[in-house]
Order: sequence, then structure tokens, then C-alpha cells
Amino acid sequence: MPTLLIRNADILVTMDAARREIPGGGLFARDGVIEQVGPSAELPKDADVTLDMTGRIVTPGLINTHHHLYQNLTRVVPTAQNALLFGWLQTLYPIWGRMGPEHIHVSTLVGLMELVETGCTTSSDHLYMFPNGARLDDSIEAAVEIGVRFHPTRGSMSIGQSQGGLPPDALVEREDAILADCRRVIEAFNDPTPFSMVRVGVAPCSPFSVSRGLMKDSADLARSYGVGLHTHLAENVEDVAYSLKTFGARPGAYAEALGWCGPDVWHAHCVQLDAGEIGLFARTGTGVAHCPCSNMRLGSGVAPVREMIDAGVTVGLGVDGSASNDSAHMLNEARQALLLQRVSKGGAALTAREALELATLGGAKTLGRSDIGALEPGKAADLAAFDLGDVAFAGAQWDPVAALVFCGPARADRVVVNGRVVVEGGRCVTIDREKALLRHGMLARQLVNDAF
Ligand code: ZN
Repeated sequence: MPTLLIRNADILVTMDAARREIPGGGLFARDGVIEQVGPSAELPKDADVTLDMTGRIVTPGLINTHHHLYQNLTRVVPTAQNALLFGWLQTLYPIWGRMGPEHIHVSTLVGLMELVETGCTTSSDHLYMFPNGARLDDSIEAAVEIGVRFHPTRGSMSIGQSQGGLPPDALVEREDAILADCRRVIEAFNDPTPFSMVRVGVAPCSPFSVSRGLMKDSADLARSYGVGLHTHLAENVEDVAYSLKTFGARPGAYAEALGWCGPDVWHAHCVQLDAGEIGLFARTGTGVAHCPCSNMRLGSGVAPVREMIDAGVTVGLGVDGSASNDSAHMLNEARQALLLQRVSKGGAALTAREALELATLGGAKTLGRSDIGALEPGKAADLAAFDLGDVAFAGAQWDPVAALVFCGPARADRVVVNGRVVVEGGRCVTIDREKALLRHGMLARQLVNDAF
């Protein structure tokens, strides 16, 4: 039963019910689970691993609720830099269609490495194409190597261009094969127990790339196993127009009719939800993964996050795929969430502490977890430490908690997941970092160069 002692943090941000911020704080954990949190003087004096956090602010590990890790291979592709969502997808689909198992494995390694180095300890992933023998397994193996808590979702596309959908026919799968593989990966990898390191979800890509039948069958299948449901919804005005034209319903009504509302569902984006849909999500406990950088990058608009929070909707943050947000930095996402709300609604539309709460407690609730998102007894020992001596924080000593969101964005100095040190000195220490980056660079070059 290995024990872990964190002590002497300048401030330890708990996100507990009282939202305590403890000067000189620390915690004691056993076997990856927190037993005590408080001023360092009140904690045990030693442990198997002791980390002195002098000069650092410690927060609960940040939680990423939406990503497409494979897109790390196609950042800043010249022909997709300036397109809106549908044009952007049509440019990138053929490139992604040439990936295989190694592309998925290595891009997931590098993408998760980037995330943990910004303080992320739990990440979701939405993988919705499986070309050339690629499988969800390839991404899960990478997450296990990094040591991050992982929520892979088995995505899918079934309506190709010839059927009026957006993706090329070569990238869509038969619906019976999709459902069978969802069953396979849930049975092989999903761990529903507390402190689980892998929770599988079911995730048709979006209403414009799968049939009504697959949306419904996916929801039924997920519920039969008690796993989460995830998709993209109401991302921009084109998306809403497609829904009205094709289904005769706004995205919220379409989702509700097919069983896609409830505390086991989280939708990415929701930029264009109207007041009725916000009420529906609040009533049903449906979660939202807010991805401000991606929404700005693709010109999708400003998600009504203030309105969602006020209505009681569960909201977490997501960095989204690396081809529509070419940076996977959780504090940057919190910072942009704050700034973007203020752009449309004026100053103080979102506070720094609210933004940090979205990145921790909000993310945990969005993913349906009560064992992460806060530093308190009974929760997982998942935490991030940021060096307050960094130039990013110079002159901000009055309020280091707010500085985490207003300044920077700073990278994490140390990160612990499940009681294990994953980042030390700002670098992921669980894998051969340079080897992964080198291989990733080669695969990315090959993939993108071959496209032109
Ligand atoms: Zn996405």
C-alpha cells in the first residue's frame, strides 16, 4: 500500500464543498486515494513518496472532456487553416483516412503527453474512424503507458457522401459492425469501479454522420452496459440548419427524441443551444463539453456558458481535437472560457474561480465521476502543481488562484495521477518522450506530405 505525502504548497486548492484554499497545504494518500487534506503541520511526517511543493500552487488534476487525439498528426494543415466546420472536415477526412494503428497509438501518446504537462490528469477521447485496421485499443494502450485516467469513446460514422452525409464513403462503417465493436471494447476495457483508470463511452460522431437508427441503438447499447454517451451537438449554425432540414427538428429535440439526454450523456460544443435547449439539458442532467478555443478557431460562435451555468447545466471544458485547436492546454482553455464569455456578455461574465471549477469539478461531473475533480478524503490522488516562481506569475502574488487563469497560460511543474508521479520538472516521465516525438513527427510528415 504505497503512500504519498504532498506538503508545503503555497496554496492547495481543494474544490471541496467549502472551496477551501489552504495556505501551506498538503495531503496524504494511500494506494492512490486521498486520506487527509489540510495544513502540512497536521499531516503525517513521512510517506513512501514525499513531494515538497514549496513555491507551488497545487490544484486537483484538470479534466479534459473532449478531444480527438489522432488529430495531433494534422495540426495547422495549410488547406484547413481557414475553413468553417464542414469545409474543414471535408479537407481533412481524406488525410485521416490513410492512418493506421500506429498513427492512432503514437498520436495518442503525444497528445496525452502534452495534456499531462499542462496539468491534465483525466482525458476523454473521441475516436470515430478506424481506417486500415486501427482500433480503439491502440489509443487505450497509449493511455496506459502515459498513466493518465482515460475515457476513450468508441465513435462511429455510418452515413457517407453517397447517402447525403458529410464523410467520404470509404471512412464509414456498417452499423452492425459498429455496434458489435462497441460491445467488444466495453467488455474488454471498461472498468466501472471507483478510481477506474479506463471508462469506455459510446460516441456516434455527430447527427450529420450517422443515421437516426444508430443514434438510438447506440443509446440503448450504452445504457445496457451503464456506460456514457457522447457526440457533437449544435456546434455551429450550419449544424443547426442541417438538423432542421434533415430531421425537421432542432438539435436538442432530435437528441431528446433518440434518448440522447440524461446524466450519462455529454455533448461537445453546444454553441448554438437556444433557451429551450438549455432548459432541457438542465432538467435532464445532460452534460456539455465546452471547447472555447476550437469554437473560436472554426468561427463557430460563443457558447452560452453563463446561461448554462445559471440554469444548472453540467459544464466541463474540452480542448477538442488538435486540428481545430492546435494547442492542448487545459489552463489555456479555462482562460479562453473566461475571456470568451466576457467578449459577448461583458466583464465578470465568468470569474477565474468559476473557470477553474469548470476544468475540475465540472469536468468530473460531465464525465459522470464523483471520485475525481477535488482534493478531499475519499477522492483520487490526482493533482497538478504549478511553479509560482515562473515569470508568467510575476507580480500576481496577491491571488495565485486567480493568476492560474488570468496569467500564462502556465505549464504544470509536477503532476500526479492515481498517486503516481507522471510529470516532473514540467516533463512527462512515464514514457520515452523524445522517441515518441520523433516517431510522431515522421508519421505526421508522411501523412500530410502524401496529401499534396
Ligand atoms: Zn470534436
